[in-house]
Amino acid sequence: MKSRLESVSERHAAESGGISQEARASPTRRKKTIAAPPAPPATRYNMVNNPGTLSQLQWGEIFSEAEAVLRRLIQFQTVNPPGNERPAAHYLAELLKREGLEPEIYEGAPTRTNLVCRLKGTGERPPLQLDGHLDVVCADEAEWTHPPFAADVADGYIWGRGSLDMKQMVTMSLMCVLLFKRLGVRFKRDLIFTAVADEETGGTHGAKYLTDNHADRIKAEYCLGEIGGFGLSKWGKTFYTVQVAEKGLCWFELTARGNAGHGSIPDPESSLIRLSEAVLRLGRTKLPQHDNTVAEHLARTLLASQPFPSRLASVLLFHPRLSSFVLNRMAPDKHFATMLSAMLHNTANPTAFHAGEKTNVIPSIAKVQVDGRFLPGQTIESFLAEVKSVLGPHLEVNVLNKLQPTMVSPSDPIMHSIARVLQRHDPSAVALPIMISATTNAAHYSRLNTKYFGFSPVKFDNGDNFQTMFHGANERIPVEGFHFGIRVLAELVEEICS
Ligand SMILES: [Zn+2]
Repeated sequence: MKSRLESVSERHAAESGGISQEARASPTRRKKTIAAPPAPPATRYNMVNNPGTLSQLQWGEIFSEAEAVLRRLIQFQTVNPPGNERPAAHYLAELLKREGLEPEIYEGAPTRTNLVCRLKGTGERPPLQLDGHLDVVCADEAEWTHPPFAADVADGYIWGRGSLDMKQMVTMSLMCVLLFKRLGVRFKRDLIFTAVADEETGGTHGAKYLTDNHADRIKAEYCLGEIGGFGLSKWGKTFYTVQVAEKGLCWFELTARGNAGHGSIPDPESSLIRLSEAVLRLGRTKLPQHDNTVAEHLARTLLASQPFPSRLASVLLFHPRLSSFVLNRMAPDKHFATMLSAMLHNTANPTAFHAGEKTNVIPSIAKVQVDGRFLPGQTIESFLAEVKSVLGPHLEVNVLNKLQPTMVSPSDPIMHSIARVLQRHDPSAVALPIMISATTNAAHYSRLNTKYFGFSPVKFDNGDNFQTMFHGANERIPVEGFHFGIRVLAELVEEICS
């Protein structure tokens, strides 16, 4: 059965000429291409710039418009590699241009297209950047209930690859720029919208390219992007994570050497055996605990809402000998426990073995690649020193790839703005600062001293398990939660920029 929202969306798209007669008659839904929503008449936005302007808007129309944009964006297949973000970026550019904005297009490589659009303010304060990436990870259609690039609307969700990671933020950011342009608002800050390529494979042609080559176009005081903003209900509260820190990355290769020999004669000192022993030690040893402000903030915020014994845990958590015990006992949710543990330790995780070719030959060299992540405040040297103390002697360590950690203050005023706006729309909301183990565009933008906060607000129903949808099958965004996100982001932009 068609949901109410689906009918509304389709009617909207059909009225705008978005769905052709043939497509509407066609039994295969995926052939429909959602067209650009119509630009609303200018008279609708001729309100003066004053507080409360946003609450007077016709949000229903804005939501329909945003749904059409998001669905169209999902339909651009921007799986990276190869990415091919160009058509999606040009689509956004058209939407901006027809309303008098001047989007700029920068390509990090052919078809790897980045869009930058600035809504000029008075310049009294430095700019705010809203960032989203246009590329997505691959999707195996066989595992999906709705085809990953059809952008179906069903059961109260918009389905599709990129609906949470992160074409929804691209759409919400676009809507903010359009809304404030239509309203004729002149903020104290410029509002910069960036929709970039290539985040999923490190940002070389996207955020890194812009940072290295067009810093003057994107430099801002604050940036809102991923990862965070997804509401998670626990203990009668809804925790909206805000990414304030990212661990650094240090991928390295371990090499063990030994004598080559015939496989019929065992050698307990062979390269392969020695490497295996080191890998075992690495895999079974927890590297030392390092307390930090983000972990402390998170634990305190999380446990403030807890009854007495659990509240005590926030103190005991930072006792190195009790930490593991407390983590396992205090967090009824394994997700939180894992997240907190990762925020307190550097990690080194062996991922790829390379040794030997023939069953009857002992190899003289054995190698393993290790995915290492280290905390803000640590260095690659201090991290490798910890690793080497676990490995033991006779192993060579070669760094393959590295990225510095990032961190902004979890008590930055913007956190209060986020909490305030969230609570306006969800009285149970708590803004929860987190550190993530993965890397995002934050690593690149923070080289410009931009304070990056991962906050792309979406409200979920209690039963939604969005963690499994990130890069997984059946990625989908609740339509109501998307509407919530648009309003929260718009009000947050207004608050930060006014
Ligand atoms: Zn992402």
